[in-house]
Amino acid sequence: MNKLITLAMISEELDKNNLILESNKVMHTMMKLSQKETDSCPAATQNIKLNLKNRQKAIDEYGYGPADPSQPNNKFWKEKMDMWKVDELSEVKNMLCGNCAAFDITSKALDCISEGIGSEEDPESTIKAGKLGYCKFLKFKCASKRTCDSWVTGGPIEDK
Ligand code: SF4
Repeated sequence: MNKLITLAMISEELDKNNLILESNKVMHTMMKLSQKETDSCPAATQNIKLNLKNRQKAIDEYGYGPADPSQPNNKFWKEKMDMWKVDELSEVKNMLCGNCAAFDITSKALDCISEGIGSEEDPESTIKAGKLGYCKFLKFKCASKRTCDSWVTGGPIEDK
Protein backbone atom coordinates (compact mmCIF):
# COMPACT_ATOMS: atom_id res chain seq x y z
CA MET A 1 0.00 0.00 0.00
CA ASN A 2 1.45 3.38 -0.88
CA LYS A 3 2.39 5.88 1.80
CA LEU A 4 -0.29 8.41 0.92
CA ILE A 5 -3.10 5.85 1.16
CA THR A 6 -1.83 4.60 4.51
CA LEU A 7 -1.70 8.16 5.82
CA ALA A 8 -5.17 8.87 4.44
CA MET A 9 -6.55 5.84 6.26
CA ILE A 10 -4.86 6.90 9.50
CA SER A 11 -6.25 10.42 9.08
CA GLU A 12 -9.78 9.04 8.56
CA GLU A 13 -9.50 6.85 11.66
CA LEU A 14 -8.30 9.77 13.78
CA ASP A 15 -11.11 11.89 12.41
CA LYS A 16 -13.68 9.22 13.28
CA ASN A 17 -12.34 9.19 16.83
CA ASN A 18 -12.60 12.99 17.11
CA LEU A 19 -8.83 13.39 17.18
CA ILE A 20 -9.14 16.32 14.78
CA LEU A 21 -5.78 17.95 15.54
CA GLU A 22 -3.90 14.68 15.02
CA SER A 23 -5.91 14.00 11.88
CA ASN A 24 -4.99 17.44 10.52
CA LYS A 25 -1.31 16.81 11.25
CA VAL A 26 -1.44 13.57 9.25
CA MET A 27 -3.25 15.41 6.42
CA HIS A 28 -0.52 18.04 6.48
CA THR A 29 2.15 15.33 6.13
CA MET A 30 0.17 13.85 3.23
CA MET A 31 0.07 17.22 1.49
CA LYS A 32 3.82 17.71 1.96
CA LEU A 33 4.52 14.28 0.50
CA SER A 34 2.21 15.05 -2.40
CA GLN A 35 3.93 18.38 -2.93
CA LYS A 36 7.24 16.62 -3.48
CA GLU A 37 5.76 14.93 -6.52
CA THR A 38 4.72 18.17 -8.18
CA ASP A 39 8.09 19.21 -9.59
CA SER A 40 7.82 17.05 -12.70
CA CYS A 41 4.86 15.50 -14.54
CA PRO A 42 3.69 12.28 -12.89
CA ALA A 43 4.84 9.31 -14.98
CA ALA A 44 1.32 7.98 -15.52
CA THR A 45 0.23 11.23 -17.20
CA GLN A 46 2.92 10.68 -19.84
CA ASN A 47 2.72 6.92 -20.26
CA ILE A 48 -0.64 5.42 -21.26
CA LYS A 49 0.41 1.84 -20.41
CA LEU A 50 1.42 2.84 -16.89
CA ASN A 51 -1.79 4.83 -16.52
CA LEU A 52 -3.89 1.82 -17.58
CA LYS A 53 -1.94 -0.47 -15.25
CA ASN A 54 -2.51 1.85 -12.29
CA ARG A 55 -6.15 2.35 -13.24
CA GLN A 56 -6.70 -1.42 -13.36
CA LYS A 57 -5.14 -1.70 -9.92
CA ALA A 58 -7.52 1.03 -8.71
CA ILE A 59 -10.47 -0.96 -10.12
CA ASP A 60 -9.31 -4.33 -8.77
CA GLU A 61 -8.05 -3.30 -5.36
CA TYR A 62 -9.85 -0.07 -4.53
CA GLY A 63 -13.22 -0.49 -6.26
CA TYR A 64 -12.71 2.44 -8.65
CA GLY A 65 -15.77 3.12 -10.76
CA PRO A 66 -18.50 3.04 -11.84
CA ALA A 67 -17.65 2.19 -15.44
CA ASP A 68 -20.25 4.60 -16.84
CA PRO A 69 -21.16 7.26 -14.26
CA SER A 70 -24.14 8.40 -16.35
CA GLN A 71 -25.95 5.11 -15.55
CA PRO A 72 -27.76 4.29 -12.27
CA ASN A 73 -25.07 1.72 -11.28
CA ASN A 74 -27.23 0.52 -8.38
CA LYS A 75 -25.05 -2.49 -7.53
CA PHE A 76 -21.89 -0.37 -7.46
CA TRP A 77 -23.38 2.27 -5.15
CA LYS A 78 -25.00 -0.32 -2.89
CA GLU A 79 -21.56 -1.86 -2.35
CA LYS A 80 -20.14 1.56 -1.48
CA MET A 81 -23.00 2.17 0.98
CA ASP A 82 -22.22 -1.15 2.66
CA MET A 83 -18.51 -0.41 2.74
CA TRP A 84 -18.96 3.05 4.29
CA LYS A 85 -21.81 1.80 6.49
CA VAL A 86 -24.14 4.61 5.48
CA ASP A 87 -27.93 4.50 5.02
CA GLU A 88 -28.41 7.21 2.45
CA LEU A 89 -27.48 6.70 -1.18
CA SER A 90 -26.94 10.45 -1.51
CA GLU A 91 -24.06 10.27 0.98
CA VAL A 92 -21.90 7.92 -1.08
CA LYS A 93 -22.97 9.59 -4.32
CA ASN A 94 -21.38 12.78 -3.03
CA MET A 95 -18.06 11.10 -2.23
CA LEU A 96 -16.51 11.41 -5.66
CA CYS A 97 -13.04 11.86 -7.13
CA GLY A 98 -14.12 15.42 -7.84
CA ASN A 99 -14.09 16.29 -4.14
CA CYS A 100 -11.43 13.84 -2.96
CA ALA A 101 -8.26 15.14 -1.28
CA ALA A 102 -6.18 13.15 -3.78
CA PHE A 103 -7.81 14.65 -6.90
CA ASP A 104 -5.33 17.06 -8.45
CA ILE A 105 -6.81 19.56 -10.87
CA THR A 106 -4.13 22.21 -10.53
CA SER A 107 -3.14 23.85 -13.79
CA LYS A 108 0.18 21.97 -13.53
CA ALA A 109 -1.56 18.58 -13.33
CA LEU A 110 -3.94 19.43 -16.17
CA ASP A 111 -1.02 20.66 -18.30
CA CYS A 112 0.73 17.33 -17.66
CA ILE A 113 -2.38 15.39 -18.64
CA SER A 114 -2.77 17.54 -21.73
CA GLU A 115 0.90 17.06 -22.68
CA GLY A 116 0.53 13.29 -22.23
CA ILE A 117 -2.55 13.11 -24.45
CA GLY A 118 -0.58 14.90 -27.17
CA SER A 119 -1.49 17.18 -29.99
CA GLU A 120 -2.91 14.47 -32.29
CA GLU A 121 -6.07 14.49 -30.22
CA ASP A 122 -7.76 17.52 -28.70
CA PRO A 123 -6.46 17.29 -25.11
CA GLU A 124 -8.63 20.09 -23.73
CA SER A 125 -11.84 18.45 -25.00
CA THR A 126 -10.75 15.05 -23.67
CA ILE A 127 -10.02 16.48 -20.22
CA LYS A 128 -13.31 18.40 -20.16
CA ALA A 129 -15.40 15.49 -21.46
CA GLY A 130 -14.02 13.12 -18.84
CA LYS A 131 -13.70 15.86 -16.17
CA LEU A 132 -10.25 14.43 -15.64
CA GLY A 133 -7.75 15.04 -12.88
CA TYR A 134 -4.77 13.20 -11.52
CA CYS A 135 -5.15 10.87 -8.53
CA LYS A 136 -2.16 11.43 -6.29
CA PHE A 137 -2.88 8.33 -4.22
CA LEU A 138 -3.32 5.73 -6.92
CA LYS A 139 -1.30 7.53 -9.57
CA PHE A 140 -3.53 7.59 -12.60
CA LYS A 141 -5.83 9.93 -14.49
CA CYS A 142 -9.23 9.62 -12.90
CA ALA A 143 -12.63 11.12 -13.63
CA SER A 144 -14.40 13.50 -11.27
CA LYS A 145 -17.70 11.58 -11.44
CA ARG A 146 -16.14 8.30 -10.29
CA THR A 147 -14.90 7.26 -6.87
CA CYS A 148 -12.95 4.57 -5.04
CA ASP A 149 -12.58 3.02 -1.60
CA SER A 150 -9.67 5.34 -0.77
CA TRP A 151 -11.78 8.50 -1.04
CA VAL A 152 -10.76 11.14 1.49
CA THR A 153 -12.66 14.31 2.26
CA GLY A 154 -11.11 17.71 1.59
CA GLY A 155 -10.50 17.92 -2.15
CA PRO A 156 -9.95 18.65 -4.86
CA ILE A 157 -6.40 20.01 -5.00
CA GLU A 158 -6.56 23.29 -6.89
CA ASP A 159 -4.12 26.11 -7.64
CA LYS A 160 -5.14 28.32 -4.78
S1 SF4 B 1 -9.14 10.77 -6.54
FE1 SF4 B 1 -9.73 9.86 -4.57
S2 SF4 B 1 -11.65 8.78 -5.00
FE2 SF4 B 1 -10.64 9.18 -6.97
S3 SF4 B 1 -9.44 7.35 -7.41
FE3 SF4 B 1 -8.11 8.78 -6.33
S4 SF4 B 1 -8.24 8.25 -4.15
FE4 SF4 B 1 -9.96 7.31 -5.24
